[in-house]
Amino acid sequence: MDTLFSNATVVTMDESMHQYTGGFVGVTDGKISYVGKNPPPETEKPKEIIDGTGMVLMPGLINCHTHLPMTILRGYADDYDLQTWLTDYIFPKEAHLDDRCVKAATLLGIAECLQFGVTSVTDMYDHIDAIAEAVAESGIKANLSRGTTLFDPEGFEFDKYPACQELVAAREKWHNYDNGRIRIEASIHGEYTSSHELWDAMAEYCINEGVRMHIHLSETESEHNSCVEKYGLTPAQLLDCHHVFDVPTTAAHCVWLTEEDRKLLAKRGVSAAHNPISNLKLASGVADVMAMVKDGMNVCLGTDGTASNNNLDLFEEIKAAALLAKEKHRDPTAVSATAALMMATVCGARAQGRDTECGMIKEGMDADLILVDFTRPHLMPCHNVISSLAYSARGGDVCLTMVRGKVLYAGGKFPTINLSAVVKELAEYAMPKVFQPTGSDESSAS
Ligand SMILES: [Zn+2]
Repeated sequence: MDTLFSNATVVTMDESMHQYTGGFVGVTDGKISYVGKNPPPETEKPKEIIDGTGMVLMPGLINCHTHLPMTILRGYADDYDLQTWLTDYIFPKEAHLDDRCVKAATLLGIAECLQFGVTSVTDMYDHIDAIAEAVAESGIKANLSRGTTLFDPEGFEFDKYPACQELVAAREKWHNYDNGRIRIEASIHGEYTSSHELWDAMAEYCINEGVRMHIHLSETESEHNSCVEKYGLTPAQLLDCHHVFDVPTTAAHCVWLTEEDRKLLAKRGVSAAHNPISNLKLASGVADVMAMVKDGMNVCLGTDGTASNNNLDLFEEIKAAALLAKEKHRDPTAVSATAALMMATVCGARAQGRDTECGMIKEGMDADLILVDFTRPHLMPCHNVISSLAYSARGGDVCLTMVRGKVLYAGGKFPTINLSAVVKELAEYAMPKVFQPTGSDESSAS
């Protein structure tokens, strides 16, 4: 046994929601090899013991919708509606990003994830090669996709379109890297930023190659309504006609789905990534999580990018998801603390296609684990650990984050990320490149 967590309150999130007070979890070769109320047998001598007294040990959180490199745009354009925010502020600045900027911004984002107890992310962005490099170096798990738009379909060919070429190259280079720690998915950015030429070609590629899909779906009312006006179908129905959901899909937002949409997406096995804080900040609306679950959809949680959140603290999403569902239905039982925590763990793992690998503390699963410090004033007393995790805990209460048995964050330190070098790279290279463009760059800036 490599590591033994001792005397922790173990919240397994397994099918029976087992909890062990003063429990023990052993880690061997990156996997969970022991879970129990009593210490493991003497023969299993651990190389290292981590004392979990006063701590909660739980599965690492899974952020199912984000754009990690957007850390560089954090706080740059706040308090606008989605269309103005994207078109007038975000897209023009993103045009200045290069691989070097993206790698630095991604490493900053990963450090933030690890610090807040996130062990796996589903990301969609440009410069996927640089993102994959950052993920590879850091040790976090990730399902990555190259967000693809198509504004001018004239002469579009999948094989010749740069974003599609980058997807194919990323699949070859990075898919299943480090025994599946990185997975490459396809991405259609959204119905409103593309057209059927892309949907058909991408769906065909995904079906033929067995590639998962990540998409923004029915985020705003205007996006939803203009699709209905233009095509006579909702975005979900329209994309389904083009076979986009024939492969396992994570659909971010799903704020404006109709009942028919929810039933259709449930039938297709689409997971909804609920991003309550981003939706609130951009005033996009409140997704009906309870209805999605009732209609059979898997619902997981995401932060969205830091430019619309403005952090990667998934504990905030857990609380917001529960609170918003209660308000939406005027029913305090609508989404319980347990349900909200499941969205951030087991349901997230399911959405990523990693449910046999993580999301629970169970023997044989990857040791993707976090320790939460329950000795802090706002976490005492603790009558119900699940309630405390959902409603009182914050990302900053995480004191250790482990992925596959390796400690990636502990006590303010990141063993795999040189954070001061990342900050220097951002300050000296990336920020000037994006925010003080020179020469011909200037014309395309906002
Ligand atoms: Zn997004």
